[in-house]
Amino acid sequence: MALSKLNELYGSKFEQMAIRDHADHPRNAGELQVGCVVDLNNPTCGDVIRLTVNLEENKVKDIAFSGHGCTISTASASMMTEVVLGKSKEEVLELADLFSKMVTGQEELDLDNLGDALFLKGVAKFPQRVKCSTLPWNALKKALEVGSASLSEIHE
Ligand code: ZN
Repeated sequence: MALSKLNELYGSKFEQMAIRDHADHPRNAGELQVGCVVDLNNPTCGDVIRLTVNLEENKVKDIAFSGHGCTISTASASMMTEVVLGKSKEEVLELADLFSKMVTGQEELDLDNLGDALFLKGVAKFPQRVKCSTLPWNALKKALEVGSASLSEIHE
């Protein structure tokens, strides 16, 4: 996405910089050797994500993502992997729900627990980008359903 388009999307320079930083330097990029694998794509935009998650004792012990996507989906994946690391399944599902509410414009939410992912709140103004931002979260929810030791590939 061109920077001018990002300017249009996000009023706050700080939010814009955070998104650009995560998209250009994704955290937890790559694939784990253990854990489950979920492939998911967003046909509307062409975003493709492969998420590998290693769950141990009901917690996200390790997580990594690869694939290719637009600025929003890449930044969202990067932000998500940072914030869910070490969290329990229940906590992850709560965060996924909170994120989904944020990007669909629900007001008066306590976003502190979302970490850098809260910088994507401007997506609420652009409904066509919501799917880009929720793609990694949906992949993670599927990974939690699949469980720890199994290898599974899901295409949507
Ligand atoms: Zn996208």
